[in-house]
Amino acid sequence: PIRSVAVLGGGISGLSTVYYLTRALPRHVPITIYESSKRLGGYIQSTQFVLPSADRNRGEDHVLFEHGPRTLRVSKRVSSVNIFDLIRRLNLIDDLILVPKQSAAAKNRYIFYDGKINMIPYSVTSMLQFYFSQPLFRGMLLEVLREPFRRNRPKAVVEANDESIGSFMTRRFGPRITERLISAAIHGIYAGDINVLSVKSILAYLWQRETTWGSVLPIWKRRTTLETKDPYSERHKEHLKALLEDNREFMDTLEGASIVSFRHGMQCLVDRLQEEVLKLGNVTVRYEDPVRHLENVVDGITVSSAMGAQTYSHVFSALPSRTLAELTEPPLAELLQKIPSVSVNVVNLFFNKPRLLPVTGFGYLLPKAVPREHNPERALGVVFDSDAVSRDHGEGAIPGSFQDSVDGTKLTVMLGGHWWNKEMPIKEHDKAIALARQLISRQIGVNETPVLAQATFQENCIPQYVVGHHANLRAIQEAVLAQFNGKLILTGASFLGVSVNDCVYNARIAVEDTVACNGKG
Ligand code: FAD
Repeated sequence: PIRSVAVLGGGISGLSTVYYLTRALPRHVPITIYESSKRLGGYIQSTQFVLPSADRNRGEDHVLFEHGPRTLRVSKRVSSVNIFDLIRRLNLIDDLILVPKQSAAAKNRYIFYDGKINMIPYSVTSMLQFYFSQPLFRGMLLEVLREPFRRNRPKAVVEANDESIGSFMTRRFGPRITERLISAAIHGIYAGDINVLSVKSILAYLWQRETTWGSVLPIWKRRTTLETKDPYSERHKEHLKALLEDNREFMDTLEGASIVSFRHGMQCLVDRLQEEVLKLGNVTVRYEDPVRHLENVVDGITVSSAMGAQTYSHVFSALPSRTLAELTEPPLAELLQKIPSVSVNVVNLFFNKPRLLPVTGFGYLLPKAVPREHNPERALGVVFDSDAVSRDHGEGAIPGSFQDSVDGTKLTVMLGGHWWNKEMPIKEHDKAIALARQLISRQIGVNETPVLAQATFQENCIPQYVVGHHANLRAIQEAVLAQFNGKLILTGASFLGVSVNDCVYNARIAVEDTVACNGKG
């Protein structure tokens, strides 16, 4: 039975693990969170900046910067419905900012290519319109038409049972779509290199379509007809059904939304979770207490940290895989090290002039196809924050974020990611800001001086699911079982999904599985 629990890492994965544990276990089971820093939330961090107001009557204004994630996706996927279930339970519905599917922020997404920002189609009509007007799409039609007739999976790929996204997409569509569109999308989510990331782990749906039909394009063939031997998918379906039933009214209000954010920033998700779990009395947080070693002992696992050693019947690790590798022995440690990560410098800029941008929309991404001389800053993309979560999403919308008390233009420039695997990362605050300003001046003509600028170097912040990730996860699972007899449970962004939605849902699954196997303590 579960007698005592340690949760390692107080990011969103660790905090949601604790939340679901408190719901599943009786109050007498103590739960201890180990967190190496002074705060909970990990990469979720929002800062409210105060600046003197131009309007004397107001005194001061405030502007919110997100240093990590800024939006949550709304979809019918179980991880998305699950996070809204959590948001409802935490009484955060009134804090949400919904971005409608029909708004410019949701529809207008861009890719920088051939010296200009190109709009990505959002409907069949826009596809036809943009195809001829945007250089990004030049020569792509033939690549799409050829897809169903392309040769099926080569023997080497069948044997390896995985392939890089770059190689898969080039095989199916050719280099233009791969390097201009797919690499940009992957920069936006993983800050990663399409030539090392796994198609099986990241674009499982396309991989499965090719396995079943030898082509990814027959869009008239529905997802449900895909063969799936994954027992989890049945379970997810049941979860989804129950979650949709419990949240019917709330999900109806989200029906027209594509993404959401929070008026007080993503941080409020962390703050409310923290408040909720700490009020119960059986949860304690050990701040600034990094875990140094884990040892399997007869009655549990001994956690050695900066402040001492203590034994728990069960330990949930919500740490990045490379950190957990340092706390464990081979073979587990070696397998965990096979999951690399990339660093990003997040540069937030606020200009007190509204409507500085040449277009409205969510922002733009830079694909791999842009040569180095046109992207010497090594940027991945730019988010137009003041449009993306703006006050009014209707026709003629006024830019200016719901999150700020003053109208202006707010941008986030993401630098680095996989580009810095081969080059020195830019860690210096002022240098990162200078690069970001240089980029937006050249690419979108924003030459003003920002009234607020903040660069945050997020070291090793996005795990990379490289080719073979699937097989490595299985090996990790076996090694954990062999070395810790089922008492160590792994969750967190390093394994089964990097989005906040995935982190929360995977924490829930980890808790439910462990409680089902071990009893409630
Ligand atoms: P972490 O946040 O890394 O938490 C791990 C915790 O463990 C940290 O608090 C750390 O201090 C602690 N720790 C480390 N070592 C030790 C130790 N030895 N002992 C004890 N504690 C330790 N997702 C979205 O859904 N939408 C977005 O818009 C989005 N944008 C993103 C933008 C950026 C710049 C980044 C970096 C990520 C973004 N993501 C986004 C992804 C998502 O934010 C992360 O994947 C997620 O927050 C990771 O949470 P985690 O708890 O698994 O890990």
